[in-house]
Amino acid sequence: KKYKFYGHLFIYLQVELHLHLDGSLRITTIWELAQKKGIDLGCNTLAELENIVRIRRPSTLAEFLKPYKIFMPIIIGDPEALERVAYELCEDQAKQGVCYFEARFSPHLCSNTHGLPPDQVVSPDDDKAVTPRKVVEKVLEGLRRGEKDFNIKARVILCCMVGQSSWDEDVLALCVEFKLQGVVGIDIAGDEAGEVETDNEENVTMKTIEVFQKAERLGIHRTAHAGEAGPAANVDRAIRELRVERIGHGYHSTDDEEIYNQVLNLGIHLEACPYSSYLTGSVPLTTQKHPIIRYAEDNANFSISRDGPTVTGTTLNDEYDLLKCMGLKEVHFARANLNAARASFLPDEEKQELLEHVKNMHGLSL
Ligand SMILES: [Zn+2]
Repeated sequence: KKYKFYGHLFIYLQVELHLHLDGSLRITTIWELAQKKGIDLGCNTLAELENIVRIRRPSTLAEFLKPYKIFMPIIIGDPEALERVAYELCEDQAKQGVCYFEARFSPHLCSNTHGLPPDQVVSPDDDKAVTPRKVVEKVLEGLRRGEKDFNIKARVILCCMVGQSSWDEDVLALCVEFKLQGVVGIDIAGDEAGEVETDNEENVTMKTIEVFQKAERLGIHRTAHAGEAGPAANVDRAIRELRVERIGHGYHSTDDEEIYNQVLNLGIHLEACPYSSYLTGSVPLTTQKHPIIRYAEDNANFSISRDGPTVTGTTLNDEYDLLKCMGLKEVHFARANLNAARASFLPDEEKQELLEHVKNMHGLSL
């Protein structure tokens, strides 16, 4: 018992801000639900499944996102599955020492009323309809159950999707409606580099800009995937036009000194994901100095997350180990977790509480 107590005290010290709920499914759960629901995953064994959903070599962001097509059907339009994976994520996070995390997803891509081919999409009036709103409800249910059972704190960020700006208004409305029930922010995700790499107008539309600026006025926290596979200009745009407080990845901001200095000066928080940065091809293996190392050297406001562990197959420890190989030290990790707590989208009082906890856990004086 004593051991467990110390273990518990010792391990609850990580804060993870950039985690896709639909990219954090257990392989075993994907397998089990596929069997139960008669979904063809395109493989015959659990080991084969693991093989096809894990990206092991640097690739492109588009390739990195492909496995989602394999396992998303497991949760799409299934309220019980959504509740379950949210609950399981709390258990998995607690096991690896996370005290607080923010899970993000597109409520539309998890629904069966949007984003599906015409022959599969369900009308919102249909009995079988699982609307984006229902998706949010079920995920929050699962997280609440998990929080209680595993003594962890979890909140939600809702994602707009590149190329689907007609959903943006709806995403913001859900952020507002569920603000007091655990939704703490809005994001834009997807393939920022896609076919529209050089055309910012298409990449982030006027509609998205409008919605993010409205979010700011309504007191909804904002982050955006930018400067991952796309250029530094996307980071600049996210700061100026989407009015973000945090940037997902942001690696390519370091390609442009002016933009990178802006990030540093404004204290914009960078949600860094080490393995993901390589596996998406965003940071080539030949890069002399990884942008995350620059973040650390320049004392940038950054934290460490996994992005999509189903695909990367990593634990947080793996991510830290990778950074250790590049020269980061314990003090950087303590600082990163403190930064994460400070940049979390929690209301002030809860944020203070989390900050104190993280400071204590890392043995930092207040
Ligand atoms: Zn991401």
